[in-house]
Amino acid sequence: MARYVYDFTQGGRDLADLLGGKGANLAEMTRLGLPVPPGFTLTTEACRAFLTTGEEPAGMAREVFDHLAAVETAAGRRLGQPDDPLLLSVRSGARFSMPGMMETVLDIGLNDASVLGLAKASGSERFAWDSYRRLLQMFGSTVMGVDPALFERALTLLKDLRGVPDDVHLGTADLTELVAVYKNLIRDETGEDFPQSPAEQLRRAILAVFASWNGERARLYRRREHIPDDLGTAVNVQRMVYGNLGPDSGSGVAFTRDPATGRPDPYGDYLPDAQGEDVVAGIRNTVPLSELQRLDPVSYDRLRDHLRTLERHYRDLCDIEFTIERGTLWMLQTRIGKRTAEAAFVIAAKLADEGLITPDEALARVSGDELARLMFPRFDTSAAGEPLTRGLPASPGAAAGTAVFDSAEAVRRAAAGEKVVLVRQETTPDDLPGMIAAQAVLTGRGGKTSHAAVVARGMGKVCVCGAEELSVDTRGRRFTAPDGTVVDEGTVISVDGSTGAVYPGSVPLVDSAVMRFLQTGDGDGTASEPVGAVARALTRADAVRRLDVRANADTPEDAARARRFGAQGIGLCRTEHMFLGERRKLIEKMILARSDTERDQALAALLPLQRQDFAGILEAMDGLPVTIRLLDPPLHEFLPDRTDLAVRVAAAEARGGVPDPHDVELLAAVNRTHEENPMLGLRGVRLGLVVPGLVAMQVRAIGEAVAERTRAGGTPRAEIMVPLVGDVSELRIVREDVKRVLAEVSASCGVPVTCPVGTMIELPRAALTAGRIAQEAEFFSLGTNDLTQTTWGFSRDDVEASFFSAYLDQGVFTASPFETIDRDGVGRLVRIAVEEGRTTRPDLTVGVCGEHGGDPGSVHFFHAAGLDYVSCSPYRLPVARLEAGRAAL
Ligand code: ADP
Ligand code: MG
Ligand code: MG
Repeated sequence: MARYVYDFTQGGRDLADLLGGKGANLAEMTRLGLPVPPGFTLTTEACRAFLTTGEEPAGMAREVFDHLAAVETAAGRRLGQPDDPLLLSVRSGARFSMPGMMETVLDIGLNDASVLGLAKASGSERFAWDSYRRLLQMFGSTVMGVDPALFERALTLLKDLRGVPDDVHLGTADLTELVAVYKNLIRDETGEDFPQSPAEQLRRAILAVFASWNGERARLYRRREHIPDDLGTAVNVQRMVYGNLGPDSGSGVAFTRDPATGRPDPYGDYLPDAQGEDVVAGIRNTVPLSELQRLDPVSYDRLRDHLRTLERHYRDLCDIEFTIERGTLWMLQTRIGKRTAEAAFVIAAKLADEGLITPDEALARVSGDELARLMFPRFDTSAAGEPLTRGLPASPGAAAGTAVFDSAEAVRRAAAGEKVVLVRQETTPDDLPGMIAAQAVLTGRGGKTSHAAVVARGMGKVCVCGAEELSVDTRGRRFTAPDGTVVDEGTVISVDGSTGAVYPGSVPLVDSAVMRFLQTGDGDGTASEPVGAVARALTRADAVRRLDVRANADTPEDAARARRFGAQGIGLCRTEHMFLGERRKLIEKMILARSDTERDQALAALLPLQRQDFAGILEAMDGLPVTIRLLDPPLHEFLPDRTDLAVRVAAAEARGGVPDPHDVELLAAVNRTHEENPMLGLRGVRLGLVVPGLVAMQVRAIGEAVAERTRAGGTPRAEIMVPLVGDVSELRIVREDVKRVLAEVSASCGVPVTCPVGTMIELPRAALTAGRIAQEAEFFSLGTNDLTQTTWGFSRDDVEASFFSAYLDQGVFTASPFETIDRDGVGRLVRIAVEEGRTTRPDLTVGVCGEHGGDPGSVHFFHAAGLDYVSCSPYRLPVARLEAGRAAL
């Protein structure tokens, strides 16, 4: 027969699935010899059985009775004993912490008779009646379903009547009266009397906690946090200890170290003469833990000892709840504590120094997301002044700009080079262009999963949402802050997505200390603690990782920056950016060429410019591989907008004049090259096969740059990458061209030039025929952006704005597949490509150059799939290094 109840002396932290986090850790503390009030845990299995059948599982009541008897014997008192009652707490506690989502009932066992016994035994009538009214309040709302606001209202009314600020000032007579009021309230609301039988109180409280697993709040929380619905909660039944027995009693919460900075001193809040719920509820102001040292040095020292014991045992930051009953300290809860990004690094490094954890464990305790948070620029808060308001910090970072109140205005001003902050009551998909144009987004309504928040995070854009104190008047194009300040359109504001603060004016930005260190290699000479901790984590990651990291970089400046961030080469050097600006005209000429001669002239003009580009990058990355991708986008991206041109030509005709012949020619070219689906059109390797001379010009520029660098004494390592290959024959044709041109360059420059030729794997067909493609490819680079588009049939430029938030809301995926690789679909193609490519060519180098290269979850996947490197934007390199190290642990 199933066993449903475990005494605290029988459990342990390895039983968290069965006993829930709280129960498992209460048992663990009991086993460690810490002062935990005795008690027992009803298992999650019991909960699941109850929730499935709606009935108390057979045998459970008997087990509860036996375990209760043991607690009673140890206490020398019985539940409901009229002269000196044992009281119990009944506490929820699921496998994963769900703070405040489920129920707890304290002071079970009091009734009209035992309240008098408790008063006598404790020597405090006030305490006894205060405990009774608490029981009525918690039991009434949690178990009997009375609206908790009704109890609050009665309490407030009484305090107002007596003219006292808070409940410690209510006397015995007041509390006796309150008990009577509460009892009437329960009867009026439920038609039932508060149950006087302690056994019935206990039984009903247990079942109510089980049932609270399916409460609306709890379900919502689970959906958001991706906690399965079928786990159930455990219930902990525990002897009460009293923090509300007068000034030498109290309750508090503590962390073994400061969870904000990681400093190795205990940190916490204490509230004298209170039960634990009061601390969290914020009814009265707490005092810092250091104050407890003054109030009760003996308990304080004990607490410090226990914190040390817990930290040594759990080998991590712990948070705890404790209660002091007339100078005796009791431990009521512990778990691994949540911490800020900064504290995560500092604590991991410190614990490793203290020998509590190994360097590898220290690396496992920090994450790329945390590192990224430490790299965001900061507002110089010393120069910031008071915020206008605070909303929810929805997407971190700091940005300033002029406030604008609609998407079109944001786009208009941004196009003119202005930095703007888009302010909306809430955003809809229609606001997307404005969000893209803005530096930051601020909304008056909506939580951290609102449209604005989800989309902003997806774009890495600063966002503060749900700033409810603001009254946003989008029609009037202004908002009003709580202090009456009116911010009209065009006024500059600063938005801190890491704290939720919104400031007037432009608060200056500063690089974070971690960013300064990553860019320069030192922390301003005085490596601060977080900087030192980050440095150590990265050093460890570099030592253990198997994946190399390369950068996506198109300019010598980016290449140099990438090197400082630790790049081991360039995984993607795009050439299209090199054709913008002045050079656009040359490309235009090439497209418009009416003869081979004209085209050759245009290409010849581009050649020296390209050679210079490549020489600069090869110099910045000297000695390291630089993978150069041949021209990829459709050519009409280099021509003017079709509508603009058509309007210009038509307007000139309408005026009766002659349109500019160049415009007419351009319009004809645009019409000729127009495509309905350019991303699936004439681009990538296809250009190489149909535009004569284009590949040859680019390859010649690369080859000559290599020769130039070699003659200058450098070690250039250019690799030529062909995009959008779907069939091996496409690659074969281009590769012939490459070989021919490089042979010509070698001959004409007198320097032997060879470059490996490889391809991107970014079409499903390429992945599925990778074995054949590897006959011609010396390396693969997974272009997971296009591969995701083509595998899902999603147009990246459109779908993120149109339906991704709906897909996220409805759980089709938990993250955009453009952000985190879709392991089941796209990931499967990746595995096929790696495996079949290497079957053909065992020494095939395989890397990834899509956005996923800098995404923590994806990096772990690429490690597991056996890739040689990931390539990402320079600023993501530290994150990629860290995660590649963690993946190798
Ligand atoms: P939560 O999971 O919401 O933190 P808990 O089960 O920890 O709920 O209970 C809330 C508070 O009730 C605790 O912080 C503690 O102060 C108080 N409490 C719980 N059990 C006892 C007990 N046995 N004696 C005294 N106070 C208790
Ligand atoms: Mg708690
Ligand atoms: Mg691509």
